[in-house]
Amino acid sequence: MSRTKLILQMDFTTTENQRLIAQTVGKFAETHIRPEFMDWDERQFFPVELFRKMGELGLMGILVPEKYEGAGLGYFEYVTAIVEISRVCGSIGLSMAAHNSLCSGHILQFGNEEQKQKYMPKLATGKWIGAWGLTEANTGSDSLRMRCVAKKDGDHWVINGSKNWITHGISGDVAVVLARTGEALDSRGISSFIVERGTPGFKAGKKENKLGMRASETSEMVFEDCRIHKSQMLGNEGEGFIQAMKVLDGGRISIAALALGIARGAYDAALKYSKERQQFGKPISEFQAIAFKLANMATKIEASELLILQAADLKNRGQKCTKESAFAKYYASEVSVQVSTDAVQVFGGYGYTKDFPVEKFYRDSKLCTIGEGTSEIQKLVISREILK
Ligand SMILES: Cc1cc2nc3c(=O)[nH]c(=O)nc-3n(C[C@H](O)[C@H](O)[C@H](O)COP(=O)(O)OP(=O)(O)OC[C@H]3O[C@@H](n4cnc5c(N)ncnc54)[C@H](O)[C@@H]3O)c2cc1C
Repeated sequence: MSRTKLILQMDFTTTENQRLIAQTVGKFAETHIRPEFMDWDERQFFPVELFRKMGELGLMGILVPEKYEGAGLGYFEYVTAIVEISRVCGSIGLSMAAHNSLCSGHILQFGNEEQKQKYMPKLATGKWIGAWGLTEANTGSDSLRMRCVAKKDGDHWVINGSKNWITHGISGDVAVVLARTGEALDSRGISSFIVERGTPGFKAGKKENKLGMRASETSEMVFEDCRIHKSQMLGNEGEGFIQAMKVLDGGRISIAALALGIARGAYDAALKYSKERQQFGKPISEFQAIAFKLANMATKIEASELLILQAADLKNRGQKCTKESAFAKYYASEVSVQVSTDAVQVFGGYGYTKDFPVEKFYRDSKLCTIGEGTSEIQKLVISREILK
């Protein structure tokens, strides 16, 4: 299908379902997240109970079919929900995205029926929190050099090594873990496994003390002779890396949505403040420097949304979206940093304090250009696709 035809076929009309989701999730975020988020941020507190409530609302299994107790919705609805949560608090949006797209997304896409029956209902209802471990201390962007290994021993695999920067590495009830089962640098030398918390030899390591996204737990996961039954492997031996890349195609749409939510939150706050704050006898929105800044912010936000919808549309149709999800992730995350930086500027000195939300958007936004592939890696993905 040519690009022109694809764009002509896209329908950006907000459905009744999306409107309802935006309304319900927005209200949930105002009631259950806004009053607490600064306290969670200060204490780096990961509010597990909030995720149970989000599970009751269907937010922990938006893309999961109803037969596994999920909401059975598509990517437009998923993006809408992440945006509504993230415009209030990026940390909660990040944890929601990691749970849904990475852990649940991996099991849903590559698990067998038995694995899906066992894990999806618990994950989709938020009774269990999911983690996903690809990154290691020495291998982030360069994940083919991972050192965490899984060796076969009869009907079991024995995992040794560690994973770093893992969202829900401590509180996750179950993790999808990528480990080397073949040669380093061989894309067929990595396999994926489901490992439950409490499995002997699997423990959480150091919790990271972060600039932003402080209410989203990030920690190390350590494996020391961790024996798991072969039935815990996802797909076949050697398929893990290829699976992970496909999971990230979807995951990047969710990080783009997270970035969009943060940008919207920062922009809304700046727009409102600009009409209230008076200097030189008039609202600062009447200075062209401020009005043009707001115009730039609004334009970039709209463009981010269009790129996200394009990727979401392809994903809904079951089509390859590697390039489009990288477009969306790269652009929306850079815009999120630019918009939240501008929002702090609109607030002046007040923007630099914790009395207003823009300093938090500013801190949280930066993660979007790093997690699930840095902006540089998105450019690598995009350039590989366009230079084919
Ligand atoms: C809050 C948070 C949550 C996270 N959650 C998870 C999670 O749940 N699961 C998980 O597996 N990981 C997670 N990560 C890890 C994240 O995906 C990695 O941090 C990210 O992929 C970058 O890897 P790195 O930090 O090792 O940076 P590096 O790969 O060391 O990169 C350092 C710098 O070099 C650049 N660079 C590297 N290679 C190239 C290249 N070939 N060309 C150009 N530039 C390059 C990068 O863009 C970056 O600017 C999380 C990270 C954070 C901060």
